[in-house]
Amino acid sequence: MTAMLNDSPFPRRLAVDCVFLRRTLDTNTPEDPFLMLCTHIIRDGRDCIGPFLENIETDCQLWEPNERLAARLAAADEASSPTAGTPS
Ligand code: SF4
Repeated sequence: MTAMLNDSPFPRRLAVDCVFLRRTLDTNTPEDPFLMLCTHIIRDGRDCIGPFLENIETDCQLWEPNERLAARLAAADEASSPTAGTPS
């Protein structure tokens, strides 16, 4: 997976694409109800460190791609394969 991430045409290691990210609402803080929580066992529900700015990668050492990003990376990897488009 690491090699695939390094060769990916997609922005890499965005916090929004992390498998441990849980987005939810906190109705007790209507001025800023959007929560970005980390479900990784080490962080145990605390805020994700982000950042959540477009195309700026997180430096979180716990980051792992979520299923949606993993599928996009696998599809891109397959499309760039030397055997892509050849009948099997
Ligand atoms: S803190 Fe790290 S592991 Fe947790 S959700 Fe954010 S990027 Fe993912």
